Amino acid sequence: MTPSHPPFADGFRVFPWWWEAAEPPDRETPLPEVAQVAIIGGGYAGLSAALTLCRLGHKPVVLDAERIGWGASSRNGGMVSGGLKVASGTLEKTYGKEEARRIALASAASFPFIEETIAREGIDCDYVRCGRYAGAWTRAHYEAMAQKVDWIAEVTGLPAEMIPKSRQRAYLGSDHYFGGMAAAATGSLHPGKYARGLAAAAERAGAALVDGVRVQRIVPEGSGFRITTDRGTLRADAVLVATNGYSLNSQGTASPWLARRLIPLNSYIIATEELPPETMDRLFPGRRMISDSKRVLNYFRPSPDGKRVLWGGRASFRKATPEQSAPVLHATMVECFPELRDTRITHAWTGFVAFTFDGLPHIGVQDGVHYAAGCQGSGVAMATWLGHNAALKIAGAANERFALDGLPFPTRPTYTGNPWFLPLVGGWYQLRDKLDRMAA
Ligand SMILES: Cc1cc2nc3c(=O)[nH]c(=O)nc-3n(C[C@H](O)[C@H](O)[C@H](O)COP(=O)(O)OP(=O)(O)OC[C@H]3O[C@@H](n4cnc5c(N)ncnc54)[C@H](O)[C@@H]3O)c2cc1C
Repeated sequence: MTPSHPPFADGFRVFPWWWEAAEPPDRETPLPEVAQVAIIGGGYAGLSAALTLCRLGHKPVVLDAERIGWGASSRNGGMVSGGLKVASGTLEKTYGKEEARRIALASAASFPFIEETIAREGIDCDYVRCGRYAGAWTRAHYEAMAQKVDWIAEVTGLPAEMIPKSRQRAYLGSDHYFGGMAAAATGSLHPGKYARGLAAAAERAGAALVDGVRVQRIVPEGSGFRITTDRGTLRADAVLVATNGYSLNSQGTASPWLARRLIPLNSYIIATEELPPETMDRLFPGRRMISDSKRVLNYFRPSPDGKRVLWGGRASFRKATPEQSAPVLHATMVECFPELRDTRITHAWTGFVAFTFDGLPHIGVQDGVHYAAGCQGSGVAMATWLGHNAALKIAGAANERFALDGLPFPTRPTYTGNPWFLPLVGGWYQLRDKLDRMAA
């Protein structure tokens, strides 16, 4: 794809636009020597787990190698979906009708849970239940969506309907898609503010949040664990690993077992310069969250203040910097919204999401250590929900089995957590998208 011109505004920054309002702060908390529950990873999953544990009378400590909220949780698109991806997968083939239904319902429950959390904790994060429009990349995708629309409405408990191309402009200011699906079970928020608000809620409830501490090893010791970090060791009765897409890097991993089960993938976003209100109204009537049905999907939205387009996607499956990926995203955006050809980019950034080999999020216990991970790039509600359910399990407070708990968690022989195959698989998916479109 030829990048369109001229993508970069004066003062362009490789910096999450969200951080202009809510950059994760530095903390000066000392590393304690003991913890009742040590939570590794200070994103939505870790913070939500900490909050629930505090509510149940426990004293958790959250440890993050960087800053609390620094990972995907303050960089994402802020689209809050109720497990639609899980609900619409090929679950039945693997798990049978009953269990597939339980898994889909357990996933969809993430949506009311995050809404309830934001309201209960009074988190100021620009949350709006705005709905989503998912554009169909081909006619066949439209037909496939139509097969699932009733199931999605049933599982989420909120309306979902097919929108033919003739009515698309009421949902999206573009003719780029072959119609699509409008689903009510989606909201929008400011991810940086949500991460900050969730951290503040956990702290208020009694959690200790420690940043700049990288966990290197977790070994059983007596009835608990000894945790080795780059700032010393601590002892904990229980441990939750919530490191998701950041589980492995050149400095190692807190859990080799978990890293072998996660496929980290860069997702990239650009923010445009401010646009006139009438342009934003035309592009985003109803101010919904937008995604599409491509294998290498695009997701885009108006910023919470309604002034900018935030456009995200998997611009590269190789190691690309945000500067390199930004013109690619810009060109894709212009294909959908040709009138943005001369609109410039003010910010570009990236972060890691975690996919799993079975396409499902997971919580569970391995060698006594709890984990919560694998949100397939849709973890705003889901990571919050997984963390909560992992906390209930740690505290022994779950009233019923959570359907995403303890499922078989596949890996592949020789896979250690470094997805060397992504350029190949990603390139193949991109080619399939092109061919599908040509045939559509
Ligand atoms: C660009 C982008 C766009 C996205 N858009 C959306 C969206 O619109 N909607 C949606 O639902 N989801 C979206 N997602 C996915 C969503 O952001 C994630 O699923 C969710 O934030 C995961 O939260 P988490 O707590 O599991 O992990 P993270 O927020 O990634 O936190 C993991 C933390 O673990 C820490 N860590 C790692 N290793 C160690 C160690 N050894 N010791 C201590 N700490 C460690 C890291 O520093 C990091 O802070 C997007 C993600 C990205 C990157």
